[in-house]
Amino acid sequence: MDTSDRARPAEADSVSGRERAFPALTEKQVARIATRGRRRPTTRGEVLVEVGARAVPFFVVVTGEIEAVRPSEGADTLIARHQSGHFSGEANMITGRRAIARLQVSEPGEVIELDREQLLALIQTDAELSEILMRAFIMRRLALIARDLGDVVVIGSRHSAGTLRASEFLTRNGHPFHYLDLDRDREAQELLDRFQLDVSEIPVVICRGNAVLRDPTNAQIAECLGFNEVLDHTRVLDLVVVGAGPAGLAAAVYGASEGLDVLVLESSSPGGQAGSSSKIENYLGFPTGISGLELTGKAYAQALKFGARIMVTTGATRLACDGQRYTVDIGDGPPIPARAVIIASGAEYRKPALERLSAFEGAGVYYGATPMEARLCAGEDVAVVGGGNSAGQAAVFLASTARQVHMLVRGPGLADTMSRYLIRRIEENPSIVLRTRTEIVGLEGNTELERVRWRDNQTAETESRDLRHVFMMTGANPNTQWLDRCIALDEKGFVKTGPALSPEELASAKWPLARPPYLLETNRPGIFAVGDVRSGNVKRVASAVGEGSIAVAFVHQVLRQ
Ligand SMILES: Cc1cc2nc3c(=O)[nH]c(=O)nc-3n(C[C@H](O)[C@H](O)[C@H](O)COP(=O)(O)OP(=O)(O)OC[C@H]3O[C@@H](n4cnc5c(N)ncnc54)[C@H](O)[C@@H]3O)c2cc1C
Repeated sequence: MDTSDRARPAEADSVSGRERAFPALTEKQVARIATRGRRRPTTRGEVLVEVGARAVPFFVVVTGEIEAVRPSEGADTLIARHQSGHFSGEANMITGRRAIARLQVSEPGEVIELDREQLLALIQTDAELSEILMRAFIMRRLALIARDLGDVVVIGSRHSAGTLRASEFLTRNGHPFHYLDLDRDREAQELLDRFQLDVSEIPVVICRGNAVLRDPTNAQIAECLGFNEVLDHTRVLDLVVVGAGPAGLAAAVYGASEGLDVLVLESSSPGGQAGSSSKIENYLGFPTGISGLELTGKAYAQALKFGARIMVTTGATRLACDGQRYTVDIGDGPPIPARAVIIASGAEYRKPALERLSAFEGAGVYYGATPMEARLCAGEDVAVVGGGNSAGQAAVFLASTARQVHMLVRGPGLADTMSRYLIRRIEENPSIVLRTRTEIVGLEGNTELERVRWRDNQTAETESRDLRHVFMMTGANPNTQWLDRCIALDEKGFVKTGPALSPEELASAKWPLARPPYLLETNRPGIFAVGDVRSGNVKRVASAVGEGSIAVAFVHQVLRQ
């Protein structure tokens, strides 16, 4: 059966989409690739790449035909056919992850073969081919995701937090998977029976066709899918970046593109807080907004393209800065030595322990009040939770567009926690209702927040309000626990840098240089802090990206000294 139509990726609906995902190279372009690799004949039925293979080679078809298929017990699924002038591969050519599809010869002929290192060198030096290949690889990966054509099946339930976590982890890592819902798909129960699994063990992740993981951690999924390469712990790296949010990814892109040997450690998945934002509308160059997942997914691919290595579910557990050289611990393995370190581990907004809070994040629950959020709730009632300056600023700001602002404060008043000028503005603003000793106790709604319940802790009375916007302004905790006592922190635990460091802090760290710390440099030479984790940072994607890239310029200076 000719499955080529069925096998067409989603982009194939438009001719240009298909052409961009499966472009034909010109003779000149093929000739340029040929100088980098080797020509070789192919035979009918020859398997060029097997599913699960690591170090996947790249092929350009000179004559004959090769096809990419997803093997299965029944009929194999055809993903793509490559004829003369076309090339194989998708995003895993860049990430270095295992092959999702089998590549086999359907018509004998000749191919040009490049190994991954040769391909990366080509992409880094040939701008025209880089654009064509990167675009095709990313579009092919998106098509695999859209068609659920991966090497992973997740069996779970929409009501299970573990299922959501595992699905989110795969999505954030750009890995295609097929989801089977126990409540809706008969196939899900059949698969559980076949593997003798119990419903209580969900989510079940069937990895690469055979490994069955019962309620796995993200690290177990990453290991099964080979997300992380084996590290050579004896090599001293130019730069270790801790955190793959916007700040860390920016540092990786600039560092690797400028020739540094860069390793990024990420305790969870790439993207950071920005990855959980449904639409970022204030980032330069995206007038209609961009989802955090898309923005950071592209940044991730960009960092890999330039040769940065990124390890996921591999958090830094300790920074050692007392020896001759800095080292970063990652739990089990030996410490990683580095000549420079960029701390980009971000912050986590303090979240009240409320059921369904995460379900409403971005859909009625916000952690920042910018003109964008203000527009969303213009003319409506909103609640601001918190009694600090950020909550006060948000309440005053939102009162200019909202119908009424309910300010919920757990304490007896604002005097101890807020600046006097803000307290006066709140008191004088008829649109703000201050509710002291009051705590939010419930969030309700379907896909978006519709109702909020709060309790007056003095009277113990609970009140329910139809209200679609809640601003959680209860502060953020920096991810700095792993820094031990190595780095100077401010009173809230954020990393102090550059001019913010006092002479005493430099003296106690035995600052050894005649020059003062650079902007973004901590009290240890060659260790920088960028993004939300840095004391004084403005907590925006743009500033995280800006700081990540600026820090790399200072890293060069330090490495030269
Ligand atoms: C829901 C939401 C919506 C937002 N919307 C916007 C918006 O529209 N516009 C805007 O400008 N800003 C927005 N922000 C703020 C913006 O996302 C942050 O300012 C930005 O992500 C900060 O980037 P960062 O890289 O410094 O830190 P983070 O994004 O916090 O990334 C830090 C990364 O480090 C990792 N990490 C932590 N500890 C370790 C460790 N020990 N080892 C290894 N890795 C570690 C974390 O897992 C994380 O991936 C939003 C934030 C949220 C939560």
